[in-house]
Amino acid sequence: MINNILFIDDDNNVLDGYKSIFRNHSNAELDAISELLEVGKKEEAFVDEGEYRVFTATQGIQGLDIVEKQKASSDPIKVAFIDMRMPPGMDGAETAKMIAKIDPNVEIVIVTAYSDTKLNEINEKIGRSDKLLYLKKPFDPMEIKQLALNLCHKYRLERLKDEFIGHVSHELMTPLSSILGFSDILRKDPTLPEKEFEPAKVIYNNAVLMRDLVDDLLSVARMEKRPIDLTLSCISLNQFLEQTDNICRILIEKNPKISFEVEKDQGEIVLTCDMVKMERVLTNLITNAYKFTREGIISLTFNLTEDYFCFNVSDTGIGIPVDQLNNIFDKFKRLENKHHGLPGLGLGLSIVKKIVEAHKGTITVESDIGKGSTFSILFDRNSAFKWSNVNGG
Ligand code: ADP
Repeated sequence: MINNILFIDDDNNVLDGYKSIFRNHSNAELDAISELLEVGKKEEAFVDEGEYRVFTATQGIQGLDIVEKQKASSDPIKVAFIDMRMPPGMDGAETAKMIAKIDPNVEIVIVTAYSDTKLNEINEKIGRSDKLLYLKKPFDPMEIKQLALNLCHKYRLERLKDEFIGHVSHELMTPLSSILGFSDILRKDPTLPEKEFEPAKVIYNNAVLMRDLVDDLLSVARMEKRPIDLTLSCISLNQFLEQTDNICRILIEKNPKISFEVEKDQGEIVLTCDMVKMERVLTNLITNAYKFTREGIISLTFNLTEDYFCFNVSDTGIGIPVDQLNNIFDKFKRLENKHHGLPGLGLGLSIVKKIVEAHKGTITVESDIGKGSTFSILFDRNSAFKWSNVNGG
């Protein structure tokens, strides 16, 4: 399989140097490459360990074009090395952010010569950390080669993992649907002897739990394959809140130490969004709030101004450590705490984030250990999520 690697740098000489790295060279040639790249001397001759196709672009915008075309032709770019400063166009962080939007699977390496640019600031700008590396100049050409080799390998393993998850969860869903359907009939059967009622209920409840887990796996596999399709429709804010309230209240009322508060709209706001997916977002956040709260209050509130609409899901639960606030949206991320044994795969928040982003919104979280957490979903007027007052405005 060919490994497509993209280099974006405003200096053509540097691009030539990168291209040369992926050919076999004598030591003398390698010295010349090092000079071309203005980087440290090589230590040993390269050995080609795979097949590479090198793409180059002198500006971020051209790089985006290449990523888009390769993705459309099902021959995607696997790794992109991006120079941090590329006047007069977009800088490396902006380019990386746009590439991640076009194809979230691309592994990105930001090449930076400037110690003045704080890496955590670039991190925040790009907004992802699991497919992002930094390489500081001066570097040895061998570093580029090894990085490319390993990142292509990582890319392939991740695609294999996605395929595996998609396949296994699909195969599990069919037998699970039968167990779910028949145990539902069984538990409702009036002729069922009393001593068999409890086991039937346990089978049914566990089948529901498994269905939800497999459903999350399937959703993730689908989202990895293609962008989320939104089916937009209109609904009054009150009806939307009421539906969410009805779904979640049944769960939350199981714990009498928790009260559940859902704000009501005093006006007549109408929403346009993918209702089913947005409902999934809120129920997911509220279910998490329930899982990680022993007592207190869970609330669903909203704020709106001329320019933005925001949903807030707050709890008085265990809270999330500050250094984990960004990571919890990563796939399969679960925090190590005494609640680790609760059912879950660590996929809920990654699905939530993808749905919010598909509506062009953002999700943030604030938390205080031992006091609780608030997840906020924000949409501005450019989002796919729209709101208006039936009386105009
Ligand atoms: P899951 O709940 O299936 O483990 P999620 O992706 O929904 O997966 O959440 C990831 C992790 O984030 C959880 O395992 C938990 O450690 C943490 N988390 C999520 N929501 C909350 C919350 N409201 N309070 C405390 N921790 C939370």
